Amino acid sequence: MRSFEDTYRHKGLRKKLVDSIRNKEITDENVLQAILNIPRHFFLDTALDHIAYEDRAFPISEGQTISQPYTVAYQTQLLEIKPYEKVLEIGTGSAYQATILAELGANVYTIERQKKLFELNKTFYFRKKYPNIKFFYGDGFEGLPTYAPFDKIVITAAAPYIPPKLIEQLKTGGYLVLPLDEGGLQRMLRLTKNADGSIMEESFQNFSFVPMLKGKQ
Ligand code: SAH
Repeated sequence: MRSFEDTYRHKGLRKKLVDSIRNKEITDENVLQAILNIPRHFFLDTALDHIAYEDRAFPISEGQTISQPYTVAYQTQLLEIKPYEKVLEIGTGSAYQATILAELGANVYTIERQKKLFELNKTFYFRKKYPNIKFFYGDGFEGLPTYAPFDKIVITAAAPYIPPKLIEQLKTGGYLVLPLDEGGLQRMLRLTKNADGSIMEESFQNFSFVPMLKGKQ
C-alpha cells in the first residue's frame, strides 16, 4: 500500500534530509530543491513511511531498490541537467530518480527490464504530474535507438562494462553517468563524448548498486 499524503511532518523530515545531503558535497541548489519538492514516501510502501527520509536505499518489489537520496543527488548533480534536455535513464525502479530529473525540467526516457516494475509504474498516480517522463520496458544495454541521440544518459544499476550502444546514442558534448563495477564496489564515472567521437573520462567516488543485467524479465 502507498500513502499519497504529504504532511508537515514529511516536509520537515525532507528538509532535514536535504540539509544532511548538502553537508556531503552536494552543492547544486537546483538538485537539492528537487529533492525537497518530491515526496519520496510516495515511492515506497506505507510500511516504510516513517523511515522514508533516512538517507538509505530501500527495497521495492522484485528484489530491487530505490536508490539512496545521496546517490540520486550525486548522479543528478554530475548530469548538470538543463530544462528541456533529453535524458535517458537505465533502471526505472521506483521512478524516484526519473521524477527528480523531470522536476528539473528534463524530458526523461526511462527503461526498466523487469515487467512487474514497469507495470507498477503505469498505475502510479503521481505520474500525471510529470508528463515529461516516458516509460519503456526493455534492456538498457540496447538503449532507445528510436529516440536517440540524448543530451545525457544515466545508468542507475552497476554496469559490468560501458555499454557501447549508449555511447553511440549520446550527443556530442553529452554526458554518460554510470557506476562501473570494479569487483564488488562501483566507481562513479562521467564520460563526455567529444566531437571526434573520443571519450573523456572523469572518475569519482565508490557507490553500491544492484547489478545491471542483460535482457528482459
Ligand atoms: N532509478 C531507480 C533505482 C532502481 S535500482 C530508482 O530511482 O528507484 C536499479 C534498477 O535497474 C532495477 O529496477 C533493475 O531492475 C533495473 N535494471 C537492471 N538492469 C537493467 C537493464 N539492463 N535495463 C533496464 N533496467 C535494468
